[in-house]
Amino acid sequence: MKRSPEEIQDLMRRVPVVDMHSDYAVELYRRESDGVSDALRREHAPALEAGGVSMEVLTVAGDFDIDGLRLWERRMMHGILDATRRQITADPDFHLVLDAADLRAAARREGTHFMLAFEGIRGVEDAADLRLLHAAGLRAIILTHNERNLAADGCGEPLPGGLSNFGRSILREAAELRMVLDLVHLSDPSFFDALDHWPFPPVVSHSNARALCSHRRNLTDEQIREIGRRGGVIGLNFLSLFIDDDRSRATTDRLADHAVHIASLAGPDALGLGPDYADYYMDAMQRWMRRDGLPPDTMDFVAGAEHVGLLPVFVHALSARGFSDGELTGILGGNALRVYSTILPDTPEPS
Ligand SMILES: [Zn+2]
Repeated sequence: MKRSPEEIQDLMRRVPVVDMHSDYAVELYRRESDGVSDALRREHAPALEAGGVSMEVLTVAGDFDIDGLRLWERRMMHGILDATRRQITADPDFHLVLDAADLRAAARREGTHFMLAFEGIRGVEDAADLRLLHAAGLRAIILTHNERNLAADGCGEPLPGGLSNFGRSILREAAELRMVLDLVHLSDPSFFDALDHWPFPPVVSHSNARALCSHRRNLTDEQIREIGRRGGVIGLNFLSLFIDDDRSRATTDRLADHAVHIASLAGPDALGLGPDYADYYMDAMQRWMRRDGLPPDTMDFVAGAEHVGLLPVFVHALSARGFSDGELTGILGGNALRVYSTILPDTPEPS
């Protein structure tokens, strides 16, 4: 049933709202070199508050660079991880998600929760490395970005294969540590190979349906069905290029088409939010687009919900498509929390 914007705002204040993928941790690190040591509180928390977001999955390293900062290099990943941890633990309203009890607190909206993730494991050399990163608070991994690394092939490779022996060994270690595995950015063969070697429900944190927008980063119907069968969750991506092949048609209503399509294949319990917002470092994104010769609209977001403060606009579009309050509650965060809770153990691993 269609809800008014006020009713949507009210719902988003009462239930957990989980942003399954955001990249601003690198900004927390960069702002520290400008002398700003509380950018999370000062620059990001107000935006989360405006959008009703109560939990974020934050990328603290990955197989890509931002303004020449190579996020897989040891010094960089330690710097970002350390800055992010410090800014979270310094604030009584902020909490690191380390175990299932933290997820229960997140479900009750007790403060703002943050789960730390790697977007590509190029910086992880072996199982010991992963264990130490886990001890430092890392709880989710994406195996690779769009390219090939030692573990797996990304969706940008022309002749992609599956996982390497190293990739499979990392998966075994991640399962042992009970970390969240995020299959986003993988090539199709790597996606299915990883699923075959993963004992828990899978996450795809920021992708849409390829049947509606043919970009290689989106999921095929077979992949969506498989995620649904295994009780996993898919975070909808708000970037225009993943919403419609004609980016001028990338409206919130068109994004809602993806939600309806995914729900028809995997059920509404497989839906979440992974908007992939980048408004907080658009200057760096513009330099990157110029450097790599990408079209200037590459990082355009869905019209009307271009930053996290406008998240309720999309949720309103979803409610207009007939999702019930219960289904919306799941999409907003309940489904992601359900999956994370089946993986993270009740007590933290000894570190
Ligand atoms: Zn990504």
